[in-house]
Amino acid sequence: MSVEVRNLVKTYGAQTAVNNISFVANPGEILGFLGPNGAGKSTTMKIITCYTKPTSGDVLVCGENVMAQPLKVKSLIGYLPESNPLYKDMYVLEYLNFIADLHKILNKKARIAEIIEKVGLGNEQHKIIAALSKGYKQRVGLAQAILHNPKVLILDEPTSGLDPNQIVEIRNVIKEISKDKTIIFSTHILQEVQILCDRVLIINKGNLVANTSIEEFKNRQMQTNILHVTFKNPVTANNLKGILHILRSERVSDTVWQLFVSDMSAAQTAVFNYCVVTENSLVEMRQETRSVENVFQELTQ
Ligand code: ADP
Repeated sequence: MSVEVRNLVKTYGAQTAVNNISFVANPGEILGFLGPNGAGKSTTMKIITCYTKPTSGDVLVCGENVMAQPLKVKSLIGYLPESNPLYKDMYVLEYLNFIADLHKILNKKARIAEIIEKVGLGNEQHKIIAALSKGYKQRVGLAQAILHNPKVLILDEPTSGLDPNQIVEIRNVIKEISKDKTIIFSTHILQEVQILCDRVLIINKGNLVANTSIEEFKNRQMQTNILHVTFKNPVTANNLKGILHILRSERVSDTVWQLFVSDMSAAQTAVFNYCVVTENSLVEMRQETRSVENVFQELTQ
């Protein structure tokens, strides 16, 4: 396991920012850390990267404990913080040389050239960082994070504040560098997780509310379906309870109901049969699949 978080807690005074969360990120995995603002994503990332100490719990990075071996952990990790702190009065090449020296990288000229190529900074490499667009600054942030070829990359909202073209470009860069690394990145954009990740962790108010593969997450939106039914004659919640495959019903009016069903096709047949048996009629029956946004809202509300 590249990153193992066990029963992690972080409190700030009376406030619990991270409330007893545990998860694992395996080698080669892209793990999306999804949650609304203030959920505890950055705090967790700061603990994994040794920028802040946990109140309790353990974090291991490639088997090294963040509390016992912070220098070792930092050498194994590349970190792009949310604020992307760069020395803006340095030139891109100058800055990357400086970072390479900090990591004591051998053959740094070749390595910097390789990374510049990888993150697409070729045309900007001789510019002063202050003059770069936000998207290119983000690429410099990514370049410094991967220069020492870390096994684990922690990216805190890497696409936040970028325009749509820049977002696509940065996602492509992340995909490109992910091949031989474990990546944990945070975002509050659902599609981003679907596009990039193998696994998604959803955190809300410091609590881990979901830890699923991306396939499971997508399935979840398919699995629980909603059937909108308009009956000719009034029905009650009690009547509907007797129908197979209906998990829950919500009344819109005496004749219009939203049915949350486990098996869409079987439930449609069951509703139809119910009408036949009770001599009711169907005025309308249509299905609606919940969006990923709905699933996310349910999990975080
Ligand atoms: P996210 O990254 O999901 O937006 P954060 O981890 O930044 O969330 O914050 C989680 C909670 O912890 C928030 O309520 C935030 O105000 C609080 N918090 C974060 N850092 C500090 C700090 N240094 N001092 C006090 N409270 C903090």
